Amino acid sequence: MSLPPCPKCNSEFVYQDQELLICPECAHEWNPSEAPAEDEAPTAKDSNGTLLQDGDKVTFIKDLKVKGSSQVLKIGTKAVIRRIVEGKDHQLDCKVDGAGEMMITAQFVKKA
Ligand SMILES: [Zn+2]
Repeated sequence: MSLPPCPKCNSEFVYQDQELLICPECAHEWNPSEAPAEDEAPTAKDSNGTLLQDGDKVTFIKDLKVKGSSQVLKIGTKAVIRRIVEGKDHQLDCKVDGAGEMMITAQFVKKA
């Protein structure tokens, strides 16, 4: 038995019921042979829990260090979301004012 983990909550206790896979923890049901539905697209929420979308303008709610440099992006810096990605730490592919393109953690911004 090697069922995939739940795509919603990553639970490992998924079980099979005929052609459906069912997660006992979040009650998500899905058909593994079907293409992912529209709502399976990566989503990200800002610090207020607001759902973010491609093209949204956001501002930083804290100073963020730029990885691999001494640059710090100050709180209040504006950015535009180019794309939301399935990232463990960084869900937002952003164009940041004065800093160019970079990956940002959704929890560190709020929708402008
Ligand atoms: Zn689940």
